[in-house]
Amino acid sequence: MKRLAWALLAAAALAQAADAPYGAAVAARFPAPPVHYETPGLRDGRDTFTSNAELAALLAELAKKPGVRLVEAGRSQEGSALEALHFSRGAGRPAVLLLGQQHGDEPAGAEALLALAQQLAQPADKGPALLDRIDVVILPRVNPDGAASGSRVSRDGHDINRDHLLLRTPEARAVAALVRRFEPIAVADAHEHTVVGRYLQKFGALQRYDLLLQQATTANLESELTGAGETMFLAPLRARLDRERITHEWYYTNPTTPGDLQLSMGGVQPDTARNVQGLRHSVSVLLESRGVGIGRLHLQRRVHSHVLALTSLLESAAAHAGELQALRATLGARLSAAACRGPMTVLAAQTRQQRELTMIDPETGADKAVAVSWNSSLKLRPVIERPRPCGYWLAADAGEAAERLRELGIVVRRLAEPAELDAEGWRETARAEGARSDVRGRIADAERSVQVMVETERKKLEAPAGSFYVGLDQPLANLAVAALEPDTQNSFFANRLLPALASAARVMAPPAPSAPPPAASEQRSEHPADDLAPDRGADAAHR
Ligand SMILES: [Zn+2]
Repeated sequence: MKRLAWALLAAAALAQAADAPYGAAVAARFPAPPVHYETPGLRDGRDTFTSNAELAALLAELAKKPGVRLVEAGRSQEGSALEALHFSRGAGRPAVLLLGQQHGDEPAGAEALLALAQQLAQPADKGPALLDRIDVVILPRVNPDGAASGSRVSRDGHDINRDHLLLRTPEARAVAALVRRFEPIAVADAHEHTVVGRYLQKFGALQRYDLLLQQATTANLESELTGAGETMFLAPLRARLDRERITHEWYYTNPTTPGDLQLSMGGVQPDTARNVQGLRHSVSVLLESRGVGIGRLHLQRRVHSHVLALTSLLESAAAHAGELQALRATLGARLSAAACRGPMTVLAAQTRQQRELTMIDPETGADKAVAVSWNSSLKLRPVIERPRPCGYWLAADAGEAAERLRELGIVVRRLAEPAELDAEGWRETARAEGARSDVRGRIADAERSVQVMVETERKKLEAPAGSFYVGLDQPLANLAVAALEPDTQNSFFANRLLPALASAARVMAPPAPSAPPPAASEQRSEHPADDLAPDRGADAAHR
């Protein structure tokens, strides 16, 4: 009954303002910024965002400037080039990677990255000094097909920002190729969040915050990385936004299920760009401007919010470049040394709190305090823990899984000779099939996943020549854990990249020195094994 009342109120508000999503009192809360941005989609009189053709033309034009290079990272499903700009004033500097518009219906991220690229492309004496300390790599539009159709997902219906572990889409593989090539010390991912829709229906209120922020939050992240992100990046970013009167909060979202009044911070699954880049020891920040569902309303302000935030993040990276490189090396080395030792978390969950948020009254435009049930990602609750193995064995028929791991940058070795391994297999104790889900609800995914519960059991494993070994004595060990422990919704087994539970095993003792970790041929994606099909799109960035 209450929901019907709010629906009627929403209808009345809409009728008042013709096609505007809300009335003048609310709109007055979001004045235009002091800067006017001039991307193709932001020019006066435009009623469409920058098209894919305009974006390609602008990138080509900027790439003619000194210190700017075009990098083709891959192609979208409809054949649009996934092109990044690489800004570099000298070799050997650490890079920061900026991603935009993974979701096609969130345009401000791409427009902001184009505006920022225009600023960075200025001559060295006029452009920002931060380029004397760091390289910047900008992939402004990860999902050109979705941008063209106004759709959140890729052409084949995948949510690209839930595909950074499974790498089913060429768009996510293009991001992985850029990450392998540039090994960024920091990554920012620009999105937009829903303003009216589910908030009006559930809370009788509209979203107020200009920008929502969140670092990587997933199992097995190092606290030093999150700490560095907070002190070096988020604290100065918040201060900057406060000075510029851009309001901000932790990132949160509203489940798509009607009547579910919980709000959740961004998820803790290792599937988003934010969480996957965190597991690679990059400071990883999600930025979400207030934009989904309001068309072009306040577009200059939405873009301004992103440009301010991205500039602050780049300045932080430049100021702390050396420390961040050192931290990355330390964390990678420590994790490599932790193979075979101690516990690890296979699955973690959010923790529940009550808190108050400020939203906006849809009629008066005044602030409205709303008490909410809040799922926090800042403190995680371990759900499944298991001893950390020395590595994983993969059967010879797991070539597709081995190739995906290599595309993630993980070292996978192929056994040249048979080896006897002290291993643990997984025995299935329960099974359910269904869709993957996240804090919003069901994830857009063409495939059904297999959710199993397992028990581990020790065994001697006769590993034949031609099978694979993934040692955890490497910096990306925790990405391998996320992919290969089978009993999570994002695992390679759950998503049929591994044909059976017996296609992989936990290796519990370092392979004997006489049979060294079956070190036949160490290969990464840069040099795919002859017997594994290289992915042209993903490897384009290496040329
Ligand atoms: Zn998004």
